[in-house]
Amino acid sequence: MGSGKVLKCSFCEEPAITVVRYAKLRLCKKHFTEFVQRRVLKTIDRYGLVDRGWRVLVAVSGGKDSATLLHTLSTLSKELGFEVTALHIDLGIGKYSEKAKEAAEKLCKALEVPLVLLSLRELLSVELPELVAKSKRPACSVCGLVKRYLINTAALELGVQAVALGHHLDDLLPYIVKNFVLQNLGGISKLGPKTETEEVFVGRIRPLYEISESEAALYAHIQGLPVVEEVCPYAVRGESLEEEIRSFLNTVEAKRPGFKVAFARAVAKNIEFYREEAEESINKCEYCEMPTASNICAFCKLTARVLGKPMGSDVRSKVRRILAEVKTL
Ligand SMILES: [Zn+2]
Ligand SMILES: [Zn+2]
Repeated sequence: MGSGKVLKCSFCEEPAITVVRYAKLRLCKKHFTEFVQRRVLKTIDRYGLVDRGWRVLVAVSGGKDSATLLHTLSTLSKELGFEVTALHIDLGIGKYSEKAKEAAEKLCKALEVPLVLLSLRELLSVELPELVAKSKRPACSVCGLVKRYLINTAALELGVQAVALGHHLDDLLPYIVKNFVLQNLGGISKLGPKTETEEVFVGRIRPLYEISESEAALYAHIQGLPVVEEVCPYAVRGESLEEEIRSFLNTVEAKRPGFKVAFARAVAKNIEFYREEAEESINKCEYCEMPTASNICAFCKLTARVLGKPMGSDVRSKVRRILAEVKTL
């Protein structure tokens, strides 16, 4: 647009703020908003992510992706007849977590979505940096493990039908490629648009499965959603294999618009095949009865090693108490 000429929206007289190349559309703010919402709606439809009457727990980190997720889901929930509740986990990563929590609270207030807040300090008496230092494991793996455990615990206690995660196309595709390269085909089954509910595991859905990172960011920006501007101090970008693959996929996308969405759809189509490759047995943890592939879950293993005691069942009862208070409010 260097010529100074303002391009018009494909649907109205307003100036276009973005070009969606794979859809061959130039869109103004209003029509871009509608475009994303319709795409999320179609994703829900195509993969059967939500049923009427369901209650969906939306994991909200304070970042732009989950803000876009919560906004689109709460908008669509009326039309599709389901309910949303938000969950934010305060990990205690200094200023970053404070800001993230503030953003999540503001967002839920603005959208009038009930918010469940869980704080690691309250549940374990330690925060993430201490867990990371003592466990001698990479921060992102400890963080992921703790979040997965708490999200599943909250979802079970609340009795929701699904947990919605803010993962978009550009989060998922690099891991799908990486798993394929390493021929860890079973791993791909967990990167599709949904995972099924099992006895002690609430199914995950990814309504942003066909939305790119830049679309999710633009949507949050246009809607003026409160998001944390700081980057997590543990985040390392630019050097990992996933990052290399991400930039490769974007190079292909630039030459062949629509490539990434087509790839995601092809994977989703074959997800049953990948699930058979996974063939993990799901057991219940000896200490806390939460799902695990072995006898002791990763959370109980971690806390036993770092804190001297497997904390799963303690944490579960604390979460139950917290949620009981939330319910009676
Ligand atoms: Zn328009
Ligand atoms: Zn356990």
